[in-house]
Formats: sequence, C-alpha cells, structure tokens
Amino acid sequence: MAPPTLVMASRNPGKIRELEALLPDSGVKLLSLADFPRLPEIPEEGATFAENAATKALAVARLTGHPALADDSGLMVDALGGAPGVFSARYAQDRTSPRPPTDADNWGKLLDELKNVPKGERGAHFVCELALATPDGRLLRARGECAGVIAFEPQGDTGFGYDPVFWVPEYAATMAQLGPEIKNKISHRAMALAAFKTLLRSWLQEQETGGSGSVMTNSD
Ligand code: IMP
Repeated sequence: MAPPTLVMASRNPGKIRELEALLPDSGVKLLSLADFPRLPEIPEEGATFAENAATKALAVARLTGHPALADDSGLMVDALGGAPGVFSARYAQDRTSPRPPTDADNWGKLLDELKNVPKGERGAHFVCELALATPDGRLLRARGECAGVIAFEPQGDTGFGYDPVFWVPEYAATMAQLGPEIKNKISHRAMALAAFKTLLRSWLQEQETGGSGSVMTNSD
C-alpha cells in the first residue's frame, strides 16, 4: 500500500525543515505548499493560534485533497493581557507603510511598552499550535508552550523573532543566546511537535482500523 501523503501548509523553508525532522519515521510522504504553487494565500485572521492553525490546515486539506499540517505561533506577555498574541509577527506594523515590521521593530515596541514594568511582572510564554486536518474535515491538534521573562535589553544573535528579549530563567540566558540545539529541546515548537507525534501515531493507527473520531488534541 502507498504511504499516506501529508501536505505541510507552509512556504517557510525553516518551518518545513523543522516539521520534516519530526516525521521521518512516521510512514507518511511529505509535500508542502511549494508543491502546490497555484493555491491561494490563506489569511490568518483568527482570534487564537488554535483557530488560525485549524483554518489553514482545513483549507489546505480541502484544496489539495490530502491531509494537511499547519502551525501558528507567537508570544503572549502577562503584563499586556496576552498581547501581542496572534499579532506577534505584525506587532509594530506601521499602518501607513506596506512594509512588514522587522523582528527588531517588534521587540523594540515590546521593550518600549514594558519599560515601566518591574522585573517580577515581566512573565511571558511562547505558544505553538499545530493542526492536522483531513479533506473530510477531521482535525488533530497539539499545543506547546515555553515560559520565560521579557528582558530589559536584547542579547544574543541566534534564532528569530522575539528570541533576543526572551529570557529563559533555567539557563540564565535569552533564547537568542542559547543557540538552536538547546532551543530545539525547550521551545514551544519542540513541545507541540512532541505532543503531536504521539497523537499522530494513534491517529495513523485509527486510520488503518477505520476509526471515525473527529477531533483529537493534547490541549483541551
Ligand atoms: P507565525 O507562526 O509564522 O505566524 O509567527 C508568528 C510570530 O511569532 C513570528 O513572526 C515571531 O515574531 C513570533 N515567534 C514565533 N515563534 C517564535 C520563536 O520561536 N522565537 C521568537 N519569536 C517567535
């Protein structure tokens, strides 16, 4: 029997590499949006990471006819009531400019917003939601989180996004100082991928035995 095909709902080569690293032993054939160049952009307009990941996975599964895997991630800061949240990538967006903000624009705005917030009240966490959808609308979801503290100044030059200002207390360093080897062990994405892998195994078994569960998740 041919292995089941899974489409990664991403054009981001970094994300595709991370997700491919998870799946080599899972017995699925992997494609990505690079294999479907004519598919329309799917907007991320949901109120939660889970909603965005599920919407993208369901749309790509429906449009390609194959099960699809999507992710959405970002930073939630306690003192800002969970912001920037789903707006993490466009937190410092200037409405008058078509240019998307740089990572430094985004963490610069965050440091500015928090400039009067004392050390003990700067808690934050990264969140990653993964969603796998089938063309007939079934959904498998996994969530991962990574807790830290927003620093007063950027430090380190690895990683991306908010890593230079995300202090990880157990390593006494920012995520951007830790480097990929440690980050890939502790990150929200690593946590979500680990949970997802366990769920995927049961899901693949269920497919073989003709099960009909409509949603499986590690987060409810
Ligand atoms: P998306 O999942 O591609 O929509 O990414 C959302 C945004 O969240 C990114 O542009 C980053 O600003 C932020 N983000 C997500 N994951 C990380 C991370 O591992 N480190 C730092 N920032 C992150």
